[in-house]
Amino acid sequence: MFFQLDDEQQTIQATVARFAREQIAPHAAEWDISEHFPRELLRPLADLGLAGMTIPETYGGTDLSRLTLAIVYETLAMTDLSVVVWLAVHNMVAGIIARWADDALRQRYLPGMAAGELLGAFSLSEAGAGSDPTGLRATARRVGDSYILNGTKLWVTSGNVADVIVVMARTSDAPGGAGISSFLVERGTLGLAAGKVEHKMGLHASPTTELIFTDCRIPVSHRLGAEGQGLRIALSALDGGRVNIAAGATGVAQAACDIARDYARERQQFGHAIAEFQAIQFMLADMAMQIDAARLLAYRAATLLDERGQATKEAAMAKCFATDTAMRVTTDAIQVLGGYGYTRDWPLERFMRDIKVAQIFEGTNQIQRVVIARALLKE
Ligand SMILES: Cc1cc2nc3c(=O)[nH]c(=O)nc-3n(C[C@H](O)[C@H](O)[C@H](O)COP(=O)(O)OP(=O)(O)OC[C@H]3O[C@@H](n4cnc5c(N)ncnc54)[C@H](O)[C@@H]3O)c2cc1C
Repeated sequence: MFFQLDDEQQTIQATVARFAREQIAPHAAEWDISEHFPRELLRPLADLGLAGMTIPETYGGTDLSRLTLAIVYETLAMTDLSVVVWLAVHNMVAGIIARWADDALRQRYLPGMAAGELLGAFSLSEAGAGSDPTGLRATARRVGDSYILNGTKLWVTSGNVADVIVVMARTSDAPGGAGISSFLVERGTLGLAAGKVEHKMGLHASPTTELIFTDCRIPVSHRLGAEGQGLRIALSALDGGRVNIAAGATGVAQAACDIARDYARERQQFGHAIAEFQAIQFMLADMAMQIDAARLLAYRAATLLDERGQATKEAAMAKCFATDTAMRVTTDAIQVLGGYGYTRDWPLERFMRDIKVAQIFEGTNQIQRVVIARALLKE
């Protein structure tokens, strides 16, 4: 596979890069320090069609290919990974609604999501359900035409600011994922409250919170798919989510590498630019080599998803490789800048703090290796 971006993709890439330069770059450091969620970006992102990338045009979306999504996230991540994370979750939730909800729910939520009026969140994880989601304990009990939700969900990206939340809860004790169902819950529903906001090492412009359900009543019509299909619905979004993270990690790594290269050309020590020292050159060469490989893996997985709707092994490879690469590249980029790289005068320390979590969420990189090995052993 050789990836030549078409005219439309090149235009989108340039437009997103300009948007990031003008609307995100001047504020990203401040948002990080003040832990500010920049909701004010959602409308302008929607004006560019980026809040409805997984929404069919009939509901106001732009319905872009997976490869185009990857290019968008890669480009935004060169400035701020936090924005990529909440925007990717929002688009993933919109995609789930577009695929699994009935027409009434689609009409009700998708146009508002595409317009940037409504923000989406996705709530699967719990205290006892991380890598193994079948451990989840939140319940949804059917009472007449309603379900009553109870339980505490954890780690919800945008949990305290989202308007539309896809929630996985148990409708029976059937083993494995068979007892898990999926629901759409609106912000403001009685019995739904946002709990603790996590104080994280990075990703400060993307809030992560608990969600607490206490006898929260929602109509049966807000169930997505059939009872027992919840885990399948959650997992159906995983390949795409992993490609998005791979693309975002590639963007972070590329931005870090660019800064390190430019700095190495300028910085003089021992009467030479440090770029003349082979130790520095080798670090830059390793960065460039690994970033190219990460990008190719991400684009390949995105293209396979576009072509056949599934790319489990390739998405896991891309996510694992790109995020491990970005962790290494941001660490080495700081090394190239020496003491300056360790300060807030440069964005590298933010990049390094932000990217760490990409080795953890959307399936940890150990789990990605489990997925890859399982696929290999079946071949
Ligand atoms: C910033 C942030 C945002 C998040 N956003 C969301 C969100 O929007 N919605 C949501 O539902 N969740 C979200 N999550 C949760 C995230 O998906 C989980 O943190 C992740 O799945 C890992 O689960 P855990 O943290 O419980 O780790 P654990 O599963 O407890 O893992 C701990 C360690 O054990 C290892 N391990 C576990 N099982 C195996 C195994 N079988 N083989 C080898 N090693 C193993 C892991 O790799 C890891 O190193 C978010 C998390 C963070 C940190």
